[in-house]
Amino acid sequence: MAFDAQHDLVLQALKGRERDLGPRPSAGVTSPWKTWSLARDGDNYAWALLDLKGTSANVLTDAVLEELDALLETLEQNRPAALIIRSAKAGGFIAGADVSQFVGASDPAEIEARMTRAHQITDRLEALTIPTVAVVHGYCLGGGLEIALACSHRIAVEGSTFGFPEIQLGLHPGLGGTVRLTRLIDPLQAMQMMLTGRTQPAKKAKALGLVDAVVPERHVRAAIKAAVDGRLPHAKTSFRARVTESGPARAVVARQMRAEADKQAPHAHYPAPYALIELWEKHGGDPKAMKTAEIVSFAHLMTTETAQNLIRVFFLREKLKGLAGKPPEGAQEIRHVHVIGAGAMGGDIAAWCAWQGVRVTLGDVKPEPIAGAIRRAAELYAKVGHGDPLKVRDALDRLIPDLKSEGIAHADLVIEAAPENLDLKHKIYAATEPKMKPGAILASNTSSIPLQKLRDGLKRPERLVGLHFFNPVSRMQLVEVIRHDRLDPQVEAFARGFTGLIDRLPAPARSEPGFIVNRALTPYLQEALIMLDEGVAKETLDKAAEEFGMPMGPIELTDTVGLDIALDVSQMLKRDLNLPGPDAPDWLKQKVADRKLGRKTGEGLYVWKAGHPVKAKGATAPDPDMADRMILPMINTCVALLREGVAEDADVIDAAMIFGSGFAPFRGGPLHYARARGVAEIRARLAELEAKYGERFKPDAGWDAL
Ligand code: NAD
Repeated sequence: MAFDAQHDLVLQALKGRERDLGPRPSAGVTSPWKTWSLARDGDNYAWALLDLKGTSANVLTDAVLEELDALLETLEQNRPAALIIRSAKAGGFIAGADVSQFVGASDPAEIEARMTRAHQITDRLEALTIPTVAVVHGYCLGGGLEIALACSHRIAVEGSTFGFPEIQLGLHPGLGGTVRLTRLIDPLQAMQMMLTGRTQPAKKAKALGLVDAVVPERHVRAAIKAAVDGRLPHAKTSFRARVTESGPARAVVARQMRAEADKQAPHAHYPAPYALIELWEKHGGDPKAMKTAEIVSFAHLMTTETAQNLIRVFFLREKLKGLAGKPPEGAQEIRHVHVIGAGAMGGDIAAWCAWQGVRVTLGDVKPEPIAGAIRRAAELYAKVGHGDPLKVRDALDRLIPDLKSEGIAHADLVIEAAPENLDLKHKIYAATEPKMKPGAILASNTSSIPLQKLRDGLKRPERLVGLHFFNPVSRMQLVEVIRHDRLDPQVEAFARGFTGLIDRLPAPARSEPGFIVNRALTPYLQEALIMLDEGVAKETLDKAAEEFGMPMGPIELTDTVGLDIALDVSQMLKRDLNLPGPDAPDWLKQKVADRKLGRKTGEGLYVWKAGHPVKAKGATAPDPDMADRMILPMINTCVALLREGVAEDADVIDAAMIFGSGFAPFRGGPLHYARARGVAEIRARLAELEAKYGERFKPDAGWDAL
């Protein structure tokens, strides 16, 4: 037997031992269920194992629940000593409900009927008169956690995580989670968990009283036995749980929660947090009434535009993850990345790659930027590392200062993030390419130089690709993967795979000025500057965009991006695309000349203090024209991008705008918003604005095909 085959067998055997999934039905006995299997062990414990076919993760579907119901009926007729529920998937327990089942839901009565039926099944699980133990490894989310909560005991295998992410889809838990969680643990902590959607690691879940024990896999059997024998103590009902049994006490707390929610997201755009708070405030003292109200509230939320659009965003993310694909052959070999230029972008790209497990060498012509980048990396890791010093130390170890650029010779991928200057980049390539390993790939983070120009003079132009990251790299999930006429498709696939490897989302685009995001954002920023010149207060303009749902207004965004960069991009677009509209105002050019560049220099359009713009209070409320004047040219540009085929379809453009610019997620993306509001209406509105303000509002020819 070849060594590899032996090795595989040993690994399989070890894997089998790693997870104790309990007994399986004997050979020849066919399971009556497609998604569950049921078998008993020598202690007469029934082991229900969930294993959805054809997927790597278990999700809750109507079929899974109906089969669980049938399984429970079998157990009621022939009672075991205990029921153990486990997942057969390597990654985790249950990742939540299958949201595809709710796409397009518009009838609350239909959702109510489905949820009422689903509740009957979890209630049946809860009502079993034997110990029921959910054994969780990996993730346990949403509907999965609701199944676990209906059990009498929860055992967490080390490394597992628990959460209710529904709020991110414009929902709250709907399968009894709001009721069971607020009764099991401190209700304030429970509400916090559901309102933020944050997942809790096993240890924290234990401290909260959400799970009864955290054990390594090898101690699972012993923990189950302890649970069944009544030796695993449940956490005691907290003092706050008792206090908030009273309606007036809940009213006080609910008021604070509403004020907090209001700071995060306005009610009109994101109704779910308010619905959840109201549910608990009104019914927190009466579980039966709360369950009924949970179903009604959940069904209503599910049919809102917000939830439907956020579900769309969930699938857009999945689509981009799919475009990252499985790393192509050789991509798993990306062990070492070299970054050229340790400035704002290069430093942060290097830090992010190292955090994601890649060894990174970081070069620059000067030591100061490298030192600054390492300092910023340490600050970032302290934030994202959640107090895991080993993880932080390992990431810092992987991030290697490299003033002599020795890493180029060892890197599988070289990312250039030097200043935006074609001649300089050409010089850098001429010095870099000969040192690179055969087969290594060169990527540029350029925001505006056409890749066709950058590849000129390269010996291997087919190995140069654009990898356009967004600022701040750790928060913006998008990376535009830019192709040019000579690019080898394998290299492009490799580059997309790389974005997946470092947990970013790729938006493939052809190299056209501004690619997708900057091209669409520029008319939005430009219109804001025009209105500023007309005398509208900057705070009013920001408010107009925020009321539409943008995470920050255009003036604050210009300051955040940097006035120099915003000016460069807008001038490049005007020149290369011959765009109509006035030139950038002289005062803006003067500010750039005076190095009043925005956030990074402490002053731009706003003065910045401690990382925040100082905004004057009492600015006049925006008039309804303002949002349309800024948002519609952005959408018009997205229509042009689609018509020109810069991105492959409307979904990629919508996703790029959401994940690259923060375009109001609850609107489902600019093109989706256009369709929802009405193509004819938006065209008419653009024509009206064109008549009033000029050619820059002219509806694009692509609207016909939308
Ligand atoms: P930056 O000026 O902050 O950093 C550039 C760094 O490159 C500096 O530290 C400089 O010392 C170094 N450098 C100069 N010449 C070099 C050389 N020959 N070899 C190695 N290093 C050299 O610039 P930035 O904002 O990080 O932009 C870098 C690239 O990223 C540009 O192409 C820009 O268009 C692109 N980009 C910028 C942003 C942004 O928001 N800043 C966003 C996306 C893309």
